[in-house]
Amino acid sequence: MNPKRILVVGAGHVGLYAALRLSKKLGPREAEVIVVDPQPHMTYQPFLPEAAAGSISPRHSVVPLRRELRRCTVVVGAVTQIDHATKTALVQPIAGPTREIRYDQVVIAPGSVSRTLPIPGLHECGIGFKTIGEAIYLRNHVLDRLDVAAATLDPALRQRALTFVFVGGGYAGIEALAEMEDMTRSALRYYPELNPDDMRWVLVEATQRVLPEVDPDMGAYTVRQLLRRRMDIRLGTRLESCVDGLVKLSDGDSFPADTIVWTAGVKPSPMLDSTDFPRDERGRVTCQPTLQVVNGDQVVADAWSAGDCAAVPDLTKEPGSYCSPSAQHAVRQANRMADNIVNVIRGREPVPYQHQHAGSVASLGLYKGVAQVYGIKMKGLPAWFMHRTYHMSRIPSLNRKVRVVADWTLAFFLKREAVALGQLHDPREEFVEASQPVSPR
Ligand SMILES: Cc1cc2nc3c(=O)[nH]c(=O)nc-3n(C[C@H](O)[C@H](O)[C@H](O)COP(=O)(O)OP(=O)(O)OC[C@H]3O[C@@H](n4cnc5c(N)ncnc54)[C@H](O)[C@@H]3O)c2cc1C
Repeated sequence: MNPKRILVVGAGHVGLYAALRLSKKLGPREAEVIVVDPQPHMTYQPFLPEAAAGSISPRHSVVPLRRELRRCTVVVGAVTQIDHATKTALVQPIAGPTREIRYDQVVIAPGSVSRTLPIPGLHECGIGFKTIGEAIYLRNHVLDRLDVAAATLDPALRQRALTFVFVGGGYAGIEALAEMEDMTRSALRYYPELNPDDMRWVLVEATQRVLPEVDPDMGAYTVRQLLRRRMDIRLGTRLESCVDGLVKLSDGDSFPADTIVWTAGVKPSPMLDSTDFPRDERGRVTCQPTLQVVNGDQVVADAWSAGDCAAVPDLTKEPGSYCSPSAQHAVRQANRMADNIVNVIRGREPVPYQHQHAGSVASLGLYKGVAQVYGIKMKGLPAWFMHRTYHMSRIPSLNRKVRVVADWTLAFFLKREAVALGQLHDPREEFVEASQPVSPR
C-alpha cells in the first residue's frame, strides 16, 4: 500500500497539533505528513501580550516546527493556491521557484488575519497584534517612545510620544493594552524625567462593553480596573481617522499619537480566495461537525478544516451557532480532526467535534487578571495565577514550558528588562553608513 500524503496548510494551533497527532498515530507506511507554513515556528498567540511586556522571551512563546514535528516533512513557505478538484497545491518557498505539491488529504488551517476597516491613515500608522514580530516591534517601539519623551524639551512631541491608542476591546486588545501599560509604568522608575501622569493610554471600543467572551459584570469589572489605573476608556466610540498619527474619534475628540494598535477582530486568511473550497458569507471554509469540509449538505471528500478559518457548527449551543475563533477550540478541533482522518484512512466513521467553551482567562498585567471558567468567576491575583498556569499547561512541549517558567522566575527576582532594542528594526543602518564610498578629496 502506498502511503497517503496528507498536506497540512498552516502550522498554528490547528496545524501543529493535527500534524503531531497524525504523525504519531499513522506509521510511515500509512501516511506521509507534509506541513507548510511561512514561519519555521508555531506562535502561541495567548502569550503575545506577555512577550510584548517582557515577562516571557519572545523566542520562548514560539514553538520550533522542526524540533516538534520530527516525523513530518516541514516546508517553510506559503501555500498560494489549492485546486482540490485535482488535489494540487502551489507552494511559494521562502526563496526560489514555486513548488507543486500533490496530496491525498488536505488540512486547511491558515488561521486568520487582522480585520481592518478603510479608516484614513490606519494602513500607514497602525499595527496589528497577531504575530511575534508585531509583539517584539511594539515592545521596542513603546520603550523607545519613553526615550523620545525623556530626551525632548518639546512638550507637544513628548505628549504625542506618550499617547498609546488601542482599538478593539476583545481579549487580545485588553490584554495587550493592560500588559503594555503595566510594563511601561514599571519602566518609568528608570525615567526620572517622566511622570506617570504624562502617559495617556486610550482604549477605543465601538460597543458598550469589553471582553465579550465573559459575562457583562466581568467586563464591567475590567473597565473599572483599567479606569483605576487612569486609562482613558472610550466605549461606544469608533476610530474615524488617524492620518499622520492625528487620531480622530467618533465622539469628536482628536489628539496626536505615535502608537496606534489595531485589535478589532479577525477575518479568515485571504489565501482561501485562491482555493476552490466552499465558504460562508464571512469567508470561512464551511465544515461539518466532523471537521470535514462541506458544500451545502455534500461532504467534500478528503478535505478538512478547523480553527479561525473554519465555520464549525457548535453542537453545544442552539442550531446555527458556530465555534468561536479561539485557541481553546482550535487545539481540540485539531485533535478530533486528526483522529477522524485516521478513522477515514482506516475505513472507520469520523466522529463529530463537540466541546462546551470553558470560558476565558485574561491577564491585566503583573498579578492582575480576570477569569470566568465553567461559570466560576475570578478577579485579581487568583485570576492572574489561573491565566499563567492554564497557558503554561497549554503551550506545546515540555521544553517551552520549562523555558516560560524560567522566564517568569527570572523576571520575579530580577524585574523585567526595560530596554528598547530599536536597532533590531534597521540593523544594517550603521554598517551602510560606515561603508559609504569615500569621495576623493
Ligand atoms: C494576542 C492574542 C491573544 C489570544 N489569546 C487567546 C486566549 O487567551 N485564549 C484563546 O482561546 N485564544 C486566544 N487567542 C486566539 C487564538 O490564538 C486563535 O484562535 C488560534 O491561534 C487559532 O488557531 P489557528 O490554527 O486557526 O490559527 P493560527 O494559530 O493563527 O495559525 C495559522 C497558521 O497558518 C499560517 N499561514 C498563514 N497563511 C498561510 C499560507 N498561505 N500557507 C501556509 N501557512 C499559512 C500562519 O503562519 C500560522 O502559523 C488569542 C489571539 C491573539 C492574537
